[in-house]
Amino acid sequence: MSTNTKQTTFSLEIFPPKPDLPRDGIYRTLDGLSGISPDFISVTYGAGGSNNGAETIRIAADIVSRYGFNSMAHLPCVGLTRERAGEILGSLEERGITSVLALRGDIPENSGIVRGDFPHASDLIGFIRENFPSLSVFAACYPEVHPESADAQEDIKWLAHKVRSGADCLITQFFLDNRHFYDFRDRARSAGIEVPIEAGIMPVTNKKQIERMVKICQVELPAKFVRVLDRYGDNPEALRDAGIAYAADQITDLIAEGVDGIHLYTMNSPYTACKIFDAIHSML
Ligand code: FAD
Repeated sequence: MSTNTKQTTFSLEIFPPKPDLPRDGIYRTLDGLSGISPDFISVTYGAGGSNNGAETIRIAADIVSRYGFNSMAHLPCVGLTRERAGEILGSLEERGITSVLALRGDIPENSGIVRGDFPHASDLIGFIRENFPSLSVFAACYPEVHPESADAQEDIKWLAHKVRSGADCLITQFFLDNRHFYDFRDRARSAGIEVPIEAGIMPVTNKKQIERMVKICQVELPAKFVRVLDRYGDNPEALRDAGIAYAADQITDLIAEGVDGIHLYTMNSPYTACKIFDAIHSML
């Protein structure tokens, strides 16, 4: 008989296919993920109103109506007016999407996009709370500190503000060393942040991709992981298997340490997501 524990949420993240790829490719991804029975599936949204916003809403709606899962639409607010935000949020509600990940997003360089009515994610969160009280609001957080924050203290100060503005739950940026997550969680709890914090886990299955992501997100590549990359970087199949094992190890440790939830960045790869889920599902 199991005596231990509270349940750990398990959610998945997917992204809409690039505009030059067939739109219905996403259903192969979703079919492949449907054996996992996640608590919800989230769908990313290109910042600055790039044209996959409509796809985000369509896919998030299909997750509910075709697959019967809860879904969450990401919504970055750079360049967004209050009027447009109201339209998008209304359309989410109408389609049975009950959660939003409210983000600022990043303004692409030389894009000509202007800031819009919401300078920060917290401004969008306040707007949602006021005008769409039935939606659950999630927000992003950064165990290794957001690249624009001066230091960890300033980062937590604004995170606490984001939670006070109405965020119900936080999801972290990916990290490859769990110590960063535990230190961050301690800082957040000490600052009075009580909402659940889901750990974002990215299975690393491609050397170039991880080198790019680590640079953009300013995430540490731990020595243990560098050894994996050095050994298997030129063998895609071995690196994929090593990446799956590494992510499963991270998750095992996080669950043992009482993490509120795991949010798996699937990179639209059902194979990887299913292998990881198989390895850890009995612990959830
Ligand atoms: P904010 O909360 O606004 O924070 C940005 C910076 O400003 C931080 O340094 C913060 O400390 C500081 N700050 C916050 N509030 C204030 C304030 N009131 N005054 C002064 N400073 C403040 N991007 C996309 O475009 N699309 C996606 O779908 C997407 N999904 C994501 C999912 C997750 C789980 C995560 C972690 C990130 C995602 N991102 C996405 C990336 C995100 O948009 C960027 O990291 C962006 O740089 C910051 O967004 P934010 O919502 O954290 O911004």
